[in-house]
Amino acid sequence: MGELDTFETWSDRERRRAQWERLAAKLPELRRTNPFYRAKLPERASGLGDLPFTTKSELSEDQAARPPFGTNLTYPIGRYVRLHQTSGTTGRPLRFLDTAESWEWWRECWQPIYRAAGVTASDRIFFAFSFGPFVGFWSAFAGAERLGALCLTGGAMSTTERVAAIVAAEATVLLCTPTYALRLAEAAREEGVDLARSALRVSIHAGEPGASIPATRERIETELGVEVFDHTGATEVGAHGFSCSARDGVHINEAEFIAEILDVRTGEAREEGEGELVLTNLGRWGMPVIRYRTGDRVSAVRGTCSCGRTLVKLAGGIAGRVDDMVTVRGVNVFPSAIEAIVRRFDEVGEYRIALARVREMDELRCTVEAPADVAELLAGAIHRELGIRCVVETVARGTLPRFEMKAKRFNKTNV
Ligand SMILES: [Zn+2]
Repeated sequence: MGELDTFETWSDRERRRAQWERLAAKLPELRRTNPFYRAKLPERASGLGDLPFTTKSELSEDQAARPPFGTNLTYPIGRYVRLHQTSGTTGRPLRFLDTAESWEWWRECWQPIYRAAGVTASDRIFFAFSFGPFVGFWSAFAGAERLGALCLTGGAMSTTERVAAIVAAEATVLLCTPTYALRLAEAAREEGVDLARSALRVSIHAGEPGASIPATRERIETELGVEVFDHTGATEVGAHGFSCSARDGVHINEAEFIAEILDVRTGEAREEGEGELVLTNLGRWGMPVIRYRTGDRVSAVRGTCSCGRTLVKLAGGIAGRVDDMVTVRGVNVFPSAIEAIVRRFDEVGEYRIALARVREMDELRCTVEAPADVAELLAGAIHRELGIRCVVETVARGTLPRFEMKAKRFNKTNV
């Protein structure tokens, strides 16, 4: 779709040189004025491999020890203009500050994301987002303004009000979590509105892996009449990834982020393969992260994509959180692999997964809103495709709670 930017077709050599030059140019300043990185960075570094990793717990402990913002601050506090915080799905929320320059950088990072999805200045973009302290789609909104699109806020609205606003303003693009897209379609149906017949033509999703899970993506496409794209980002790091016309994964914007894949067992970081995604941002110098362990489990591939980009691709998007992986009687499985099967059943509405320990044995339980006869079919499909036994229980539609932000569908319990 459209022309590619120079960085999108870099060779490995061009990429490595550009990334290191940009990072190396800033290291002296960080050593001088950023107390957090002054304590971490070595005096000399000839390449990325010489720099230490940064973890979420380090940042969290730093903020707890030096509240409220910690010591990862390169500039005097007066330079910062925005505060956002992590959603707090895993522990205490982390606070992140942006300067005017770094907020501008966020806006720029959204341009390749919109371009890859074919979104232009003529679009009307609806943000089904609460606009609270979580950075979520705040940066997407700012990026859309930068693009010149018409930005429509869906903050402080009920789901029904959002459906009405999408229809009334003839929105062409929708941004929200994949779960919430399905919730919007469901609420619209209850109101007698068919969003597939609205002006919506593209949706971009983040916060959960759904948009890269084929069955979830197809369901959103059918119910909303859109072409679905995935986006990956994090409060600590920035808006880093986007799916292209191939839509089989997420490319990382390697002009603004250095991506590495950490083999958690050996501690070795590589440019591709399976492991934990490690990211360094290259334009948020007021509160940067260097070799940040995102906790996201990915499978990264290099080469030229059918879209023409040479940017690294996270095949199938983000598989899940490293600590979400469960082992059911010796078989490793991510909740996203189960979602990929559950969403293929059109009769299923909302669902929950729980891993329980029953009489010293792992037992996976899945609760789905569906007719009773789905239970056996679904359990059979999970067993066939993942090699694990799953107890499936069906409940009536509308029984399970709905989510607006990151869905919490997975529980580990002890019985
Ligand atoms: Zn591509």
